[in-house]
Amino acid sequence: MTHNRQNNKHEILDTLKTVFGFHAFRPNQEEIVKSILDGRDVFAAMPTGGGKSLCYQLPSRLMNGTAIIVSPLISLMKDQVDAARQNGIAAAYMNSSLSSQEVTELYRALRNNRIELLYIAPERFAMLGFIDTLKSVPVSLFAIDEAHCVSEWGHDFRPDYLSLSVIPNIFPKVPIAAFTATATPKVQEDICRKLGLRAPFLVRASFNRPNLYYQVERKTQVETQIIEFLRGHPDEPGIIYRTTRDSVTDTADFLARNGIKALPYHAGLSTDIRDKNQDAFNRDEASVIVATIAFGMGIDKSNVRFVVHADLPKNIEGYYQETGRAGRDGEPAHCLLFFGRGDIPKIRFFIDQIADDTERSMSLDKLNQVVKFASHNVCRRRQLLGYFGEEYPADNCGNCDICTGSVEQFDITRDAQIIMSAVSRTQERFGIGHIVDIVTGADTKRIRELQHDMIKTYGAGKDRDKKHWRFIVDELIAQDALRQEGEPYPVLKLTEKGQNALYGREQVAALKRDAEKRKGQTKGGIFEQYDTALFERLRSLRKGIAEEEQVPPFVVFSDKTLHEMCRCYPATLADMRKTSGVGDSKLKRYGDAFVSEIKRYLSENPGITIPERQAVSFDRPRTTEKKTGETVEETYRLLTKGMSMEEIARERNLSQSTISGHIEKLIKNGRDIEIDRIIEPAKRRRIEELFMTTKQWGLGAVVEQGEDAVAYEEARIVRAWMERKEV
Ligand code: ADP
Ligand code: ZN
Repeated sequence: MTHNRQNNKHEILDTLKTVFGFHAFRPNQEEIVKSILDGRDVFAAMPTGGGKSLCYQLPSRLMNGTAIIVSPLISLMKDQVDAARQNGIAAAYMNSSLSSQEVTELYRALRNNRIELLYIAPERFAMLGFIDTLKSVPVSLFAIDEAHCVSEWGHDFRPDYLSLSVIPNIFPKVPIAAFTATATPKVQEDICRKLGLRAPFLVRASFNRPNLYYQVERKTQVETQIIEFLRGHPDEPGIIYRTTRDSVTDTADFLARNGIKALPYHAGLSTDIRDKNQDAFNRDEASVIVATIAFGMGIDKSNVRFVVHADLPKNIEGYYQETGRAGRDGEPAHCLLFFGRGDIPKIRFFIDQIADDTERSMSLDKLNQVVKFASHNVCRRRQLLGYFGEEYPADNCGNCDICTGSVEQFDITRDAQIIMSAVSRTQERFGIGHIVDIVTGADTKRIRELQHDMIKTYGAGKDRDKKHWRFIVDELIAQDALRQEGEPYPVLKLTEKGQNALYGREQVAALKRDAEKRKGQTKGGIFEQYDTALFERLRSLRKGIAEEEQVPPFVVFSDKTLHEMCRCYPATLADMRKTSGVGDSKLKRYGDAFVSEIKRYLSENPGITIPERQAVSFDRPRTTEKKTGETVEETYRLLTKGMSMEEIARERNLSQSTISGHIEKLIKNGRDIEIDRIIEPAKRRRIEELFMTTKQWGLGAVVEQGEDAVAYEEARIVRAWMERKEV
């Protein structure tokens, strides 16, 4: 069953293109595929969206026999099978929803080697006769999805998974590949042992999700805040997490009343309703799902564009998992957490119910870590990855609120000392409110009774308001200079770091973010833009097809694939085939429909120039189209002679839109361009402003907002210019 690597490199790449439509592997995929083809066991911890399914689907195509895929959720199997079939793979699933006749037929197909991929639930392995039947089938490999379910240390332990441990004994020659998106090193070891993996090829991918933008906002009127956020993301599919069933219902109602297609999801709803709502979300019929964390593993939807946490999550693992459901297709997605200290006692209440001492204190630690994540002014990405033991290499991730806001560091040592002195002089026996009262010199009954108006720090911070002093306390807690202890009324205690600061042995600094600047952040500045008007059209075409075929839209084409179409405008089947995500099977099924729609769009919008492909896609082998390169150079030559866009167009007998395309390319390539000669400064600033206020990188919105004063070509050039400045 092993494969000769040398002979098959070409075959592997060819399959990647023709079956899956991809031009290049994502990190680790190639090594995993090759290990499996070599007959070696694999353990792979890769983040959600890392492309795990390809790791077993591709080898299954090249190996003889059936690949058995163990997947925990029956509800997902159908979508997984549909998605594989869309790529022309002979896939099937076996679960309790099949009739006994269907099962018999399936067995026959298996014995006749007609199935490449078979999805089953783990409980199958414990069923009488199943393994014996499997022995009569040529099995190429076993892939265990969500492998952390086998470990009690993981957060999703499923006893059924333990029955998988028989596989290596019964099928000693068949490779086993285990995949998970959550393994801590401890869980990893447990998985390898429980599944009996034999000297597996180990992969621990980075858990960084570069396309996710992380943001934390102070929680005030959360429902209104959500509406405001949704206004910036019209019609985009997204998830809003809430802690309780009641708040899910309330928020879903509130959104519906405000004209947003939102549906609720929580464990208190009947299975029917839950399935129906999830289905509507999957099929892009409802754009927003408001859910408790019960809405979890069942989400395979790759085009979730945002995940909002309206309440504080209980721990970082959960937060990472939940936000991880955004942007599986690799396109930009927004993760927003509304953080209010008021949520802390609510979670504490639940933690206090935990009977086991160690477990309770572990949960408390975890809660403190989320609070730190939300309140500490440190790159969110760095903090998340740090939690999983991974060090983020760069200083600035460029895609979280901290790194993209203008962050100013300032010294708070003096203020910190005032607070800590008040804490120390009252013998560390009081909570935040009272300490703030002392430093601001409040005249309360309690202060008078305790004679706290007599201590030296009383009123030492009168010049600033309470909000400021609360901020200082928050900051000190976040930085571990103060710690909260005891219940139900936690008091403030000085830590070692706090002592050092109090006695002037250590400085304390805080970071202040510029709220204005942060608001101007357009998500995913590092990502390429696409034609949003065309996207809307292709999206609705996709939806129609999906309805006809009864599959979720993202199974037809991912958002990523549509976005690429909206950058490259493939108007022939040959061009369409070059698009990432378009394999032979999908080209045959949908190529014509999409090509016609794009052609129609282009004929309605004659101003659009089609960019050279190499300029817009990084994972495509470079095909140098000399001709276009030369014509761009000619434009450059005329520009440096001082000619305007109009003059160049006239001189070269080309449209202004073509010339603007050339200029765009020149700017993007970092060429020396005198922008003020092309677009006068006042106008350029006006267009820049429009881009910032519409918060969209598409050209349409800006041209429209510019009310005839802004031409498409101008918007395009300014956009390129703005991007260049950011680098
Ligand atoms: P995971 O199971 O790891 O969360 P998936 O297997 O669902 O991830 O893949 C996530 C998305 O990435 C899918 O839309 C898939 O088509 C896409 N994808 C996978 N591999 C590649 C690749 N090599 N190039 C481009 N897209 C890919
Ligand atoms: Zn960052």
